[in-house]
Amino acid sequence: MLYLVGTPIGNLSDMSPRAVEVLTQADVIACEDTRVTGILLKEKGIEAKKLFCYQEHNKAAKGPVLIDMMKQGLTVAQVSDAGMPAISDPGEDLVRLAVEAGIEVSVIPGPVAAVSALAISGLSTRYYHFEGFLPQESKKRRDRLECLKEYSETIVLYEAPHRLVKLIEELESAGFGDKKASFCRELTKKYEEVIRLTVSEAKKYFEQNAPRGEFVVCLEPLAAEAGAKKEAGTACDADTLIRLLLEKGMPTKDIAQVVSKATGLGKKEMYARTLELS
Ligand code: SAM
Repeated sequence: MLYLVGTPIGNLSDMSPRAVEVLTQADVIACEDTRVTGILLKEKGIEAKKLFCYQEHNKAAKGPVLIDMMKQGLTVAQVSDAGMPAISDPGEDLVRLAVEAGIEVSVIPGPVAAVSALAISGLSTRYYHFEGFLPQESKKRRDRLECLKEYSETIVLYEAPHRLVKLIEELESAGFGDKKASFCRELTKKYEEVIRLTVSEAKKYFEQNAPRGEFVVCLEPLAAEAGAKKEAGTACDADTLIRLLLEKGMPTKDIAQVVSKATGLGKKEMYARTLELS
């Protein structure tokens, strides 16, 4: 059995009682840095049966070892240094291996920096795109920046403080200069702060105030209107579909069900719309 256990992104009080319970009972705790996890365990009074280092640099070799342990009946709890494992953290590969091996995987949810930042960004949360860290390699990075231009959803990025100004400059060059952004730093910690500026304003701000701590950047998309168009498009598609099915003589209830499934719009809403159009 594999448990993916969310741990705090800063404030240790955010650790859930269920996370404590699972880590206490696990045969093996797979973690990125045994010292970092050791501090958390000590703070929470958890005596780990076994700590096993599983991180970005050794995951190809250590993943199969953990899978063997689970096949032998051991319970493995995976944590990362902070937040949800598998979200811009090692874990994704282990989950895939476990799924392929037919091992049960369960989640003990915890804070995610991206979602926490998005929630307080003041930007649209209706649609969002999670980008995480941009690649370091320049060609891949340029390609991803090109892709970001196409998005019509709020974009959520992770960045280290020493690279934040470079990221802001790249976003400005990509055309995001006058777009709103929120820079959430040190979430849940003593110096939590949300800086809401346009990208160009942020460039000036961070040139004068050196970025410190961990950052999540939430960014207004370039193609802002596309989101609205998409919604209008969906409603229009629903009407077209309803009319077509009415012509075919399908009963109102069935139309509502089919159109709701096809568009993702509510069944009740589609039932009412079908009555209106019939
Ligand atoms: N798995 C984590 C999660 O659930 O969000 C993310 C881990 S990723 C390796 C680390 C990045 O997450 C940091 O560079 C920063 O961008 C973001 N991050 C993590 N903790 C944060 C915090 N307390 N405040 C702001 N950003 C944070």
